[in-house]
Amino acid sequence: MDKEPKFAVGGSDPDLAKAKSALYSALVADAKIVRGRIVSLLELLLPYLNDPANYTADGTRLLSRPKSILMGRIKRSFPEIIRKIDFDIRSSVRSAINTTVDSQIESMSKKKLPVPTRQEADIVKEEALLGLGRDFPRGSGVTYENRLSRIERVHSKQLERIVGSTHTENAKSKITSDVRTALLHSSPGPTPVQNGSLAKKVMRLSSAESMRLVNEAESGLFASAGVEFAYWRLSPSHKWEGGGEICEQMASRESSDINALVKQRDAALMTEGLYLIKNWPSYPHPFCKCFAEAAI
Ligand SMILES: [Zn+2]
Repeated sequence: MDKEPKFAVGGSDPDLAKAKSALYSALVADAKIVRGRIVSLLELLLPYLNDPANYTADGTRLLSRPKSILMGRIKRSFPEIIRKIDFDIRSSVRSAINTTVDSQIESMSKKKLPVPTRQEADIVKEEALLGLGRDFPRGSGVTYENRLSRIERVHSKQLERIVGSTHTENAKSKITSDVRTALLHSSPGPTPVQNGSLAKKVMRLSSAESMRLVNEAESGLFASAGVEFAYWRLSPSHKWEGGGEICEQMASRESSDINALVKQRDAALMTEGLYLIKNWPSYPHPFCKCFAEAAI
């Protein structure tokens, strides 16, 4: 399948596409709050890092007393910042799920499809949020909580290593810039951080967890309302890449099983990108902006 689906790009309900892009803007704003937490950690360390009196006379490393003060600050503040970031991510995920479920219900009732009761919708929201504690991809054994603690472990060690490092000259500027890079660097540049900075990793984690749980909330909602089929829709901002890209394949896939089932129900439905809810695809890749649209 390499042709562009007839109407799948953006879907047939433009309000759903709008809701999804509003959600994405909200996630970008939430990511900036998370980044702000890390800026505040940097600001806590900078006065010590920037003071020339804290370095040895030959300027090759930190003196031991300021070094141990800095280590203490990192040990104390790092877990605190991660706890706040955890809180930020959870509330970002919760509001992403809530707004998605609400806009999906609106779209379903516009189309005269069955809608869940308020209580059923609340259960769908809660159930999706619990996904933070389930492994993803399924069977990997790795949950959101595992990912965040791994980030915490790796990056606090990295900071301690930088603060304790010795240089041939000008340790002050080297250590300060390495700390800044490790915490905040967000794009490839002259001093790339292996596997990305702390800010980059937690911002990515926040957006990926929200989007994948939104995907689960959508199919959970349809199942709870008794909707049997839904479309996988590409975001209107998606530029068609020729049909090989994973989301393009999902939005345009046709199967003989689905065709037969639709025929059986005597429904006049396009079958490109149409799925049985019980076979709903899982979130395919980070930053995917696709969305679901209930069919029958
Ligand atoms: Zn996608």
